[in-house]
Amino acid sequence: MNQKPFIRRPITGDIEFWGPYVYGNRQRIQDTIGSRCRIVWEPSRTGASGCVWRVVRTHMKPVLEMLLDMYGEVVLFREYRETDRCDTRCLTAEGDECVCGCMGLMHGSEAGGGGWLGGLQVGDHTVLFCGPRKWARVELGHSVEEMAA
Ligand SMILES: [Zn+2]
Repeated sequence: MNQKPFIRRPITGDIEFWGPYVYGNRQRIQDTIGSRCRIVWEPSRTGASGCVWRVVRTHMKPVLEMLLDMYGEVVLFREYRETDRCDTRCLTAEGDECVCGCMGLMHGSEAGGGGWLGGLQVGDHTVLFCGPRKWARVELGHSVEEMAA
């Protein structure tokens, strides 16, 4: 199986992530999110098959950076509400919380820096349905300039 590392972020609740096994993974995750935070390895709760790591959603950014560091690429799945209109709250946001209909495309785009995905996005957004749930899928990787640095 040639599966890429991924993060899944539902509209509410913990994030799930997975990557091909590398010795010391658990310790590395623990170091990334902090020694007092709980990490769980268990079956996915988002309807997908297989086991995943699960941590509190506020750790999304450090987890994303960790996976990029370990594997160089990450597929990010974000659940969103198609009916939610994208407005100034999203456009000027500085964090990574986005569940509105823009799929995160516009998120933070007016906050400076070109949005939270600025420089990381290496593929197009695609949309996945999982029952009634809707997910935006995007591939992220280190930019070419960063790799050269
Ligand atoms: Zn938006």
